[in-house]
Parts: sequence; C-alpha cells; structure tokens
Amino acid sequence: MRRALDGLIDALPSQCAVCSRWPARRLCADCCARWATATPRCQLCAIAVPAGVKVCGACLRGPAPLSICLAAVDYAYPWHRVIADFKFRGDTGLARSLAALMLQSPQACEQLARCDALVPMPLSPQRLCERGFHQTLLLARALARQQPVQILAAAAERRHTGTPQHDLARAQRLRHLRSAFAVAPDQRSRIEGRRLLLLDDVMTTGASLHALAQCLRRAGAAEVGALVLARTPL
Ligand SMILES: [Zn+2]
Ligand SMILES: [Zn+2]
Repeated sequence: MRRALDGLIDALPSQCAVCSRWPARRLCADCCARWATATPRCQLCAIAVPAGVKVCGACLRGPAPLSICLAAVDYAYPWHRVIADFKFRGDTGLARSLAALMLQSPQACEQLARCDALVPMPLSPQRLCERGFHQTLLLARALARQQPVQILAAAAERRHTGTPQHDLARAQRLRHLRSAFAVAPDQRSRIEGRRLLLLDDVMTTGASLHALAQCLRRAGAAEVGALVLARTPL
C-alpha cells in the first residue's frame, strides 16, 4: 500500500527544489547530474580528496571512530538551501528525493546491503518538540523504502545539553558530546555483535557521529560506519 502510494506520489508533477522547473521531480535529473557529481572522498571521514587517495592525512594520523563514512554531496550550494527547506522549513516531502540522492552516491547501496541495521542520528526530545519531526528518521524510512534495511530508531537516546553546540568552545563541546548519547539496557540485544550504519543529514566536524559511534561500540556493536547526506567541505 505504502509502495503504491509512493509510486503515485512520485508520478505526480512537482517543482524542482533547486531550479524551480515545473513539472519535475522534487530534485530534477538535470540538477542531480549537475550538482551531485561523484567526488573522490576519504573512506573514513568523507572529506573530498584528490583522485586515487583513499584516506585523508587527518584520518591517517588519528584514530578513526567510523569503519567507513560516505557522503552524497558537499554541504554547499545548492544543497545547503535544499537541506534548510527540509530540516528547518518542514518540507518533509523532500525526504524521498534526498534519500534517492544518497543511494546514487558510490558504495551507498553496497553499505546498506552489508549493514545489519541503520541508526538515524537521534534527536533530543526537546529538539523533536521544537522541530515537530525527526529529520534523520524520515530520511532512514525513505531510504528503507527504496532499499529494504532494518531501522533502529531507538538504539541510542540523545540527551538535551541545553546550550546549542555552536555556542560552546571546542573543549566544552567535546565534553558535552561524550555524555550526549546513551543506550537503554533494553536496546543492547539489538546492538551487540551487529554491523551498524549511522545516518545523518549534515556532517561538519564529525564529532556527533564519532560520539554516537563510540557509544554504540561500547554497547557491543561489531562495526559502526556512517552514511551522510552532506559533508561540510574544508
Ligand atoms: Zn532542477
Ligand atoms: Zn579522512
């Protein structure tokens, strides 16, 4: 039923969120071809790297909390605008097209097929109340409709830390992040020994993804990788 409805919605004419052309898909094929070209990225942090390079210098020097990290696009024009429409202006109808964009990125289908479950970046109850929807869960559901995968939406809880992350000094932010995620005892059996793929909309420094990965590893996850929609370029 849901699939039939999705097919019907997809067939309806719409306006492209990038070029405003009508009728088109929410993200038209021309815009995806123009603005979402495959870029060589570091396998561990998804930062753009020169062709032929697999792991960036920073990841070679430091410990890599993620086993793999994939990003569909850079967090730059026009995607920062489209993501703001989705995340902050409540245009949740974009989830399906954004999920399709993620599936087009190299290795995304392969990693989804390989993982045991997808873990959308948790939202604190306060943030959920303010926003009214959980954007990474919507992305996870849209992905799972296009490529079946189990979603563990309650694998970890995010505690509300009060001050927005960007208002804190780096050291303070890291301290906050270390205590930001927790695994409820009833979720452990779903995590232990499993290969998890975290899902986030925007990756900036990766600190939140790393903190979540460490929390899930401590709870017994065998492997934790990440798939993100957009990566902030250096
Ligand atoms: Zn377009
Ligand atoms: Zn890297």
